[in-house]
Amino acid sequence: MSERVFNFNPGPSTLPLSVLEQAQKELLNYKGTGMSIMEHSHRGKVYEEVNSETEALLKELLGVPEGYRVLFMQGGASSQFDLVPLNFLPQGAVADYILTGSFAEKAYEEAVKIGEVHIAGSTKELNYTRIVEPNEIHLSKAPAYVHITSNNTIFGTQWQDFPDFGDVPLVADMSSDILSKKIDVSKFALIYAGAQKNLGPSGVTVVIIRNDMLEKVPKSLPTMFRYDIHAKNDSLYNTPPTFSVYLVNLVLHWVKNNGGLAVMEKQNQDKAKLVYDAIDNSAGFFTGHAEKGSRSLMNITFRLPNEDLEKAFIAEASKQGLVGLKGHRSVGGIRASIYNAMPPQGCKALAELMIDFAKKNG
Ligand SMILES: *Cc1c(COP(=O)(O)O)cnc(C)c1O
Repeated sequence: MSERVFNFNPGPSTLPLSVLEQAQKELLNYKGTGMSIMEHSHRGKVYEEVNSETEALLKELLGVPEGYRVLFMQGGASSQFDLVPLNFLPQGAVADYILTGSFAEKAYEEAVKIGEVHIAGSTKELNYTRIVEPNEIHLSKAPAYVHITSNNTIFGTQWQDFPDFGDVPLVADMSSDILSKKIDVSKFALIYAGAQKNLGPSGVTVVIIRNDMLEKVPKSLPTMFRYDIHAKNDSLYNTPPTFSVYLVNLVLHWVKNNGGLAVMEKQNQDKAKLVYDAIDNSAGFFTGHAEKGSRSLMNITFRLPNEDLEKAFIAEASKQGLVGLKGHRSVGGIRASIYNAMPPQGCKALAELMIDFAKKNG
């Protein structure tokens, strides 16, 4: 393939071209040190600078207030499904989970193995076509925390406004929409996100944790599972995924150079609108999975009139250099993942193909 394609993969997903080019340029000799960043000791000054700058950049871009730490961990968001209850769900306590998609369910299923869990709201019986309404949320008496999934990667729904449960710690899996828009971090006790959607490559998981949560961690927990140990050691308790963190650093610089989250948000809205308009103006040829009030700016899910047309659509898209559009098996149809790094031209090309395809096959 002579040219890069528009990559709509859900994760790992497309990265900014300029980031890949910079990584390529620096691959053999990082900043004149005569070696790759991959070859540097994680205890050396060169890597430590990458580590601390990446934490600082994330705090700056997200507007993380005083009193929080940013950690770089391993094991993906899936490990966080276990670590959150291991750290914050002691015996005798109850944790509340709001189910809005497959990953929320997985997080819930892991917590069930560890302690007592209450489902505080769910749209499972609607096949997760929308986020729960505020009046459908019923918390347990004194939850240790409430867990939500901010963007449902598989179903293509996204919380538009975050709930406020007062003093109850709010924990959010933001794997597929972190950095896509401005958020009020002060509403959250803990945010986690696997990097491979909106932050960089796979291999590192970002955790943003409020300091008072660090004090709740049981000392009896195995060392590598303890958030407080990772915080105390600036994410350098053991060897971190140095190259992944370095790439996250480059992506954060890219976001900053592009104007930060306000610009990302506007761009993401404009990009998503191109594709949603193509669905809404197709006279029923395309049907969106998500209800309009819950639509995701990151993952757009839709069906065509039948599976043969869906296959033909994916084949035609691929011919035009638009790849990774096959929907998840639990929803079927098409899923266009249009994270920060998807250029507007990619969404424009997809929307044009949709309009053209509907005209020819409708
Ligand atoms: C991709 C994804 C996960 C799983 O992440 P891993 O890093 O593969 O463990 C969890 N939650 C959400 C919302 C995701 O999009």
